[in-house]
Amino acid sequence: MPLRTAAQYRESLKDDRVVYFRGQRIPDVTQHPLVQVAIDHEATDYRLVADPRFRDLAVVRHPDNGEEMSRYFLPPRSAEDLLQRSALIETACREGGALVVLSKVVGSDGLFGLLRTTKKVDAALGTSYYPRVKAFYDYCWRNDLNFALAQTDVKGDRARRPSAQADPDLYLRIVEERRDGIVVRGAKVHTSNTTHANEMIVLPTRAMGEEDKAYAVAFAIPLATKGLKLIMSGYGSYTQRNPFDYPVSATVKMTETLTIFDDVFVPNERIFLKGEWQFAGALALAFVEYHRLTAISYKLPFLDLLVGAARLVAEYNGIEQVAHVREKLFWLASYAETIRALTQQACLKAVPTELGMVIPNPALVNIAKHHFAAHFHQALSHVQDLAGGILVTGPAREDVQSEETGPLIDKYLQGKQGVSGKERVRVLNLLQDITTSDFGGYHAVLALHAEGSMEAEKLQLYREYDWQRAVAYARRLAGLGQE
Ligand SMILES: Cc1cc2nc3c(=O)[nH]c(=O)nc-3n(C[C@H](O)[C@H](O)[C@H](O)COP(=O)(O)OP(=O)(O)OC[C@H]3O[C@@H](n4cnc5c(N)ncnc54)[C@H](O)[C@@H]3O)c2cc1C
Repeated sequence: MPLRTAAQYRESLKDDRVVYFRGQRIPDVTQHPLVQVAIDHEATDYRLVADPRFRDLAVVRHPDNGEEMSRYFLPPRSAEDLLQRSALIETACREGGALVVLSKVVGSDGLFGLLRTTKKVDAALGTSYYPRVKAFYDYCWRNDLNFALAQTDVKGDRARRPSAQADPDLYLRIVEERRDGIVVRGAKVHTSNTTHANEMIVLPTRAMGEEDKAYAVAFAIPLATKGLKLIMSGYGSYTQRNPFDYPVSATVKMTETLTIFDDVFVPNERIFLKGEWQFAGALALAFVEYHRLTAISYKLPFLDLLVGAARLVAEYNGIEQVAHVREKLFWLASYAETIRALTQQACLKAVPTELGMVIPNPALVNIAKHHFAAHFHQALSHVQDLAGGILVTGPAREDVQSEETGPLIDKYLQGKQGVSGKERVRVLNLLQDITTSDFGGYHAVLALHAEGSMEAEKLQLYREYDWQRAVAYARRLAGLGQE
């Protein structure tokens, strides 16, 4: 099958998936005004393939049979593969209004993690998961599918293990084993794009002990599977935003759901881990090893946007040469370039792993992701400081367009000489949309939590960092062990 078009992708979403939004069932997601915005945003990936400017980046030949496939599905085997993958993720996000175009990349991050880990499970325990994952992977790239990836469980009492929760369903678990498959119950949360993906890959969220055996489960199912119930978030549930007041969020959106598995049957061929608790943590990590590169790659356009809009508003206000303003612009540019440099280094210093694949350098990826998250709110603070209070007190489109009030706004909200009120309102609207609106709030929480919260990144770096090397050097200069 050739690569799909945006229209074919949209058509593939007409199924019986069960999605609720604000207490109502959505009968057809392709007709829902809010999900339509998200579908159109997600279709960016399909448009890139059809655009001669991006085709070489977005499309590759399958290494074994030469067939065309989306680059997202190419298992990285070199630093160059990782650089190209990162460039594609960044490009899709840039073309998609600085909001990640997630579905294909998160799905392929999951598939790569599954391919590597199931090979290890099979070798250690004599199971036969790898051929199933490989068959599913082939089905996905051949049909040019896109994905939701459900990893984060609802988790209840965070200090307790899955099996020690007061309610046993707070982590997804196997409740029945049949000859032809398993039945699972529980819920995942924050699952992006389930409303408009084709397949959902489900992975464990953490390492498990033997007592958590029933929770060590991984599989993939179509979104219209019986018993799967999706409750779409009401946050930022805007429709018909006008692009003057909301220049970005009028046309870009992701959706998230509380993803409930109400005794869902999974057939054998789609089960990729079933009780092998020793490998739950390894599988969770193998996905994350790719997914954090996704994270830092797609942050780059948003950071460029913050830097560019901050500089523009400073120029419009006539203060770009003032010392404290230069200081803030320097800070913003240096923040953005640090993440970019770390992203490239993480690819260049790739680490070899199973199946001839490489992973981005884990220490550098985690430093980058943590640096981004830890300083994001400081970046917002600098941008909002430069913009001034008008960020949240400005006029609406109707006032700017009105014959009566438009000229007044043009006169009284003008900036430095030559900058009209209307121009200034446009850049302020951009900044309010991406930093103070509900969409801005979404970005702020996305920065902190998506792809793992900061403590997870610290833990990972703590594991990865070469403490021995640094300690040995300190010991040598301290004269220790030389007497
Ligand atoms: C916009 C968005 C999209 C997302 N998309 C997806 C998706 O598509 N698929 C998916 O699987 N996930 C997704 N996530 C989930 C994301 O990975 C999680 O938000 C992240 O892992 C943090 O988990 P949590 O939100 O449940 O926070 P919590 O785990 O509730 O964390 C809150 C605080 O509690 C702390 N904490 C939690 N547990 C412990 C503990 N045991 N000990 C000490 N401190 C603890 C945390 O460090 C943090 O400070 C998304 C998140 C966002 C915000």
